[in-house]
Amino acid sequence: MRKTIIAGNWKMNKTHKEAAETLKKLAELVIDRENLGGVEVIIGAPFTALESAVRATENTPIAIAAENMNANESGAFTGEISATMLKELGVEYVILGHSERRAMYGETDAIVNAKVLAALKAGLKPILCIGEQLEDRETGKTNEVNGTQLKGGLSGVSVEDMKNVIVAYEPVWAIGTGVTATPEMAEETHAFVRSVLVELYGNDVAEEVTIQYGGSMKPENAKELLAQKNIDGGLVGGAALDAEVFYGIIAAG
Ligand code: PEP
Repeated sequence: MRKTIIAGNWKMNKTHKEAAETLKKLAELVIDRENLGGVEVIIGAPFTALESAVRATENTPIAIAAENMNANESGAFTGEISATMLKELGVEYVILGHSERRAMYGETDAIVNAKVLAALKAGLKPILCIGEQLEDRETGKTNEVNGTQLKGGLSGVSVEDMKNVIVAYEPVWAIGTGVTATPEMAEETHAFVRSVLVELYGNDVAEEVTIQYGGSMKPENAKELLAQKNIDGGLVGGAALDAEVFYGIIAAG
């Protein structure tokens, strides 16, 4: 059985104090694992908020993710953060290859892949983001783009390591725009993504990989999206900033 995993991506929002306050509220809503009905919850926080986020979620079912990392272990990389630094802090996941990083910071599939491999080596679980631009969809290149990003990002990842990888399909045109892919549209691409995983790792492994949908997910549309066969969770931006709104999505899972 695949896990349903709802992850928030706070992006460059919340100071460490604000992070602790929001997580305290979220933890009160979530209460305990039984209350979640099997749904796993992750919050991706900025680097400066990670320590207080980890502390605020100790003994709660909420896991913490970083939103990026450097692929190198250590050295002369001014301003960068390594996987080991995150792991030692108690961070469990790392969001990699988000479309904002691909578009604004020039992250190629090769760069994303190096980060995925470094994360796994350090014992962090990557959330590998892929997704097509509007132009790709309009020119019939959705599968080609997603297939290339998925294969590129997972290059060299072993079958054993795939149990620690989450894939997040995020159509770029739906991120932060209020426009969501219809459940049918999203399901079509999720099914394609899983077929690529079957090609790479075989049916048994592919069936176990959690594929999240991301792009203007909110409490009002989450249930229908999460009801699709190949949609196993969400990566949520704007609607994850408020504990009660985010809990509305978790409750739909
Ligand atoms: C995201 O940034 O990963 C995202 C899905 O954002 P939003 O939910 O705001 O569209």
